[in-house]
Amino acid sequence: MWNDRPIRQGLLIVISGPSGSGKTSVARALCQADASLAYSVSATTRPPRPNETDGVDYDFLPRSEFEDLIQRGGFLEWTKYGDYYYGTLKSTIESTIASGKDLLLEIDVKGAMQVKALSLKCIYIFILPLSFATLKTRLRSRNTESDSELQRRLLTAESEIACVKDYDYCVVNPDNGVEQAVEQIRHIITAERCRIDCSLLDWISQEFSIE
Ligand code: 5GP
Repeated sequence: MWNDRPIRQGLLIVISGPSGSGKTSVARALCQADASLAYSVSATTRPPRPNETDGVDYDFLPRSEFEDLIQRGGFLEWTKYGDYYYGTLKSTIESTIASGKDLLLEIDVKGAMQVKALSLKCIYIFILPLSFATLKTRLRSRNTESDSELQRRLLTAESEIACVKDYDYCVVNPDNGVEQAVEQIRHIITAERCRIDCSLLDWISQEFSIE
């Protein structure tokens, strides 16, 4: 475990960034590097890309089921991105908290602002590529979106980048692999896990008999 302290409140880590920033690769690599970190598998109505697996990359749901879950209050947050719904199921959060792990949510800016409104213990990290030109090249070379979807994602990227001011940290993900961004985020998470909060103070007062 990251720390021998037995009592602690789980941490939520929100990672956002424009499409093409490489945030999914960074988030996946982070969870592989840190056994105390779980990846929150989102639900979506978007069809799977050729390399994606149901239940691993997303829970791919029919639109009717997603809308039913919205009605029943099943989501911590949800958003409409383009033509599709995306959301974090409350059940995902609950099962991770029960497992004692911290949870990484890779969600868009609108979803992140919904989480922020809940005032949970959470850190907000924004991922950027080195330049807007890099972003365009990455999106084009990915070859998974139609031309119109690509244009829409570039427009959304501009408005998303303008929201960076609402985040706690900004990490640049350069083109030569995710290692640098992963290392920087691991440092951020380590610092946040040592932050003095109520659960840390409770543990200190119990362990060291301080009134
Ligand atoms: P993609 O279609 O490229 O997988 O995802 C499109 C956008 O939806 C990305 O910005 C991604 O971060 C965001 N996204 C994925 N899952 C969720 C989610 O559960 N909630 C929200 N709000 N956004 C999500």
